[in-house]
This record gives sequence, structure tokens and C-alpha cells, in this order.
Amino acid sequence: MSATTEERTTAELMPGVQIPLIGLGTWPMMGENAAAAVSQAITNGYRHIDTAENYANETAVGEGIRRSGIERRQLFLATKFNTQWHSRSRVREAFDNSTRRLGVDYLDLFLVHWPNPAQGQFVEACEGLQQLMEDGCIRAWGVSNFKPAHLQRVQAAGIPVPLNQIQVDPEHGQPEQLAYHREHGILTAAYSPLGRNGGFLSHPAITGPATDLGKTPAQIVLRWHIQHGRAAIPKSANKQRQRENLDVFNFALTQPQITAINALETGTPPRLDSDTYFH
Ligand code: NDP
Repeated sequence: MSATTEERTTAELMPGVQIPLIGLGTWPMMGENAAAAVSQAITNGYRHIDTAENYANETAVGEGIRRSGIERRQLFLATKFNTQWHSRSRVREAFDNSTRRLGVDYLDLFLVHWPNPAQGQFVEACEGLQQLMEDGCIRAWGVSNFKPAHLQRVQAAGIPVPLNQIQVDPEHGQPEQLAYHREHGILTAAYSPLGRNGGFLSHPAITGPATDLGKTPAQIVLRWHIQHGRAAIPKSANKQRQRENLDVFNFALTQPQITAINALETGTPPRLDSDTYFH
């Protein structure tokens, strides 16, 4: 890659909606810690912030956004709602609640946080999100923690799913899930993209390219996500680590380096099973 070529740092999520490929994860920060981290991240150049009703930090995230002084339209703000709101009309209540706590009047991305298949109303939740889009309340919508079987039920209702936020890291590559996303044009957003400071960061498949390229192991892993065509939302409260996590463009891993990182896959399922876990 030429050093003079600016690499794209966003992807088209829906027509006319660009999602910055690196966002700031905000769980488990709360209160002043969350507000300070969000404000600092925006000052550091972040333009995508990820929060959720369930993180109980939307008010603090909103405070951090205001403190940064950024114009609302410069920011891509994503949040998620719990399963109690899984009906066409209640999704609107979830939107009203989140925007009130965040102190904003629209969302860039609103996600069904967990499918809760036993409750069986996640298709209605997606219909409610589509209505919010038609009403101009949200710019894009998506889901989180949906397995292919859940995605199929939404698609069977004639609703194409734009994005699924799921746990992915080099040891939790979820190959079948990701193949399904590719086949159906669903953008993957990786949560816990660094495996919560996972042990793999010290594996030679990652430290080798880090040394060769003069990058940190976390940068190599985030770059691996980007070259796989995913967005990623690493959480950091630390100024230096926030900066390095965003600075993953304009260098490239070679195909053998990517293949070596892919080989760290353990086949272990995600931490939480979305057929049974929900909130
Ligand atoms: P991450 O993989 O983002 O890891 C975060 C941990 O890694 C923190 O301890 C952080 O510490 C550390 N870290 C961050 N950057 C670096 C770096 N450059 N080098 C070394 N260590 C680093 O895991 P999370 O589980 O936090 O996931 C990220 C986000 O995903 C969450 O904040 C949340 O927004 C979202 N999420 C979504 C879920 C869902 O169900 N949809 C579930 C879980 C998370 P420090 O702060 O000190 O830098």
C-alpha cells in the first residue's frame, strides 16, 4: 500500500450511511470514567462510539460527547436495547429512552442486543427498527449476538439484516457465522476484538508482524479484523491505547501473516450462548 494513498476508514452500512470501522467500546465504563474516556476518545479522533441500554452508561456517554464539543453530525453513535422492548411499538419507547439518556435526537445505529429466542419476538423488534428508520429517527439498524438461525428468521420475514455485532477475535473466529454474514451481505462488527487483552496478543503470529511492522500486538489484531472486512469496537480508557487502536490504517498485513493469525482459531464458541443468555 502506497504511503500516499489514504485508506478508507469507513464502510457503507446502508445507502448513504458510512460506519467508521474502528469505534470505541464503552462497556464496562460508567459515570465519570465513561464520560472522560468518551470525551478523550473523540479528541483522539474517534468518530464511532458504541454503548447500550444495558451498560447503564448512556447518560455518561452523552456527557462525554457534549464535553468533547464535537458536532453531533460528525459522530456515529450506536446503542442497543434489551429484550423487554421486543415489539413494534416498544422499540419506539426504547429509542425515546436511549436518546433521552444520551441527550441526542437521533441515533446512527440502533441494535437488538440479544435475540432471546424463547421470548420469540426479535422479528417484531427488527420491524420496529425498520419503522424507526422510515420515521427518520435512526440512520441504520442492526442486531447483535444473532446466530444464523436467528438471522434466517428475520430474513424469512423479508427483512435484510445490515449488521450483526458479535464476539470475534483470533481465537474465536466463528468461521461458520462469518461465512453466513458474507453470503448474506451482513456487515460484521467485532466486539471484544482484542479478546479483553487476550493471551493471544503475545503469540508469535501476532508479535512477529508487530515487530516487523513497528506496531503493537493490539494494532496487528485490529488490522487483521479490518483486512477481513469487519468493523471493530475495542474498549480502552487509556489515552495512548485509544490512539494506537485507532491508528490501524495505511499499513497492511501480508496474506501469510493473516493466514497465521487465522490459525489461532480454537473453535471455542462465544462466551455467552445467545440461545439462552439475554438481557
Ligand atoms: P476488548 O477486546 O475491547 O478489550 C478491552 C480490554 O483490553 C480492556 O481491558 C482494555 O484495557 C484492554 N486494551 C484496550 N486496548 C488495548 C491495547 N491497545 N493493548 C492492550 N490492551 C488493550 O473487549 P470488550 O469486551 O471490552 O469489548 C469491546 C466493546 O464491545 C465493549 O466495550 C462493548 O462496547 C462491546 N461489547 C458488546 C457486547 C454485545 O453483546 N454486543 C458484549 C461485550 C462487549 P484499557 O481500558 O486499560 O486500555
